Amino acid sequence: MLIFCCVASIILFSIYDNTKEKSEPIVDSVLSPYVDEWKNDCKSHGLEMTDDWWRLERIYAVYVYTDGDNRLGMGNRIAQTIQVKADYSDDVVKCIVYHELGHYVFRLDHCSESGQIMSETIHTQEDSYYGVNWQELKEEYFDSIKR
Ligand SMILES: [Zn+2]
Repeated sequence: MLIFCCVASIILFSIYDNTKEKSEPIVDSVLSPYVDEWKNDCKSHGLEMTDDWWRLERIYAVYVYTDGDNRLGMGNRIAQTIQVKADYSDDVVKCIVYHELGHYVFRLDHCSESGQIMSETIHTQEDSYYGVNWQELKEEYFDSIKR
């Protein structure tokens, strides 16, 4: 089954409070291993954190949407938050974290190919897909940031 991922990049405007000190966003503990891994990967690929990262206030896990939506994740530049639906396998949740941070921090758009981290759809029922292909998917993701 494929579930559409919300497009963070459709939120076109952002508000930046220049008085905000540079501080790390608050990250829910269930997501922090993935966010830490993403930051380490950014560093090992020679990427500096962008202003968008420092503007981010919070990355939080959601389990049930009261509005009945089925989105996997969403960035909100007004609230300065990223939400990640966290009741999938570890590999899928990690992929959602990388996907949403790709939109939010590096302003990546969706890629036209399927099965990539920045694809518009994510395979939520093929549990082994992201685990088996992670190294390859990750290199394509970081290549797309540097392009
Ligand atoms: Zn997306």
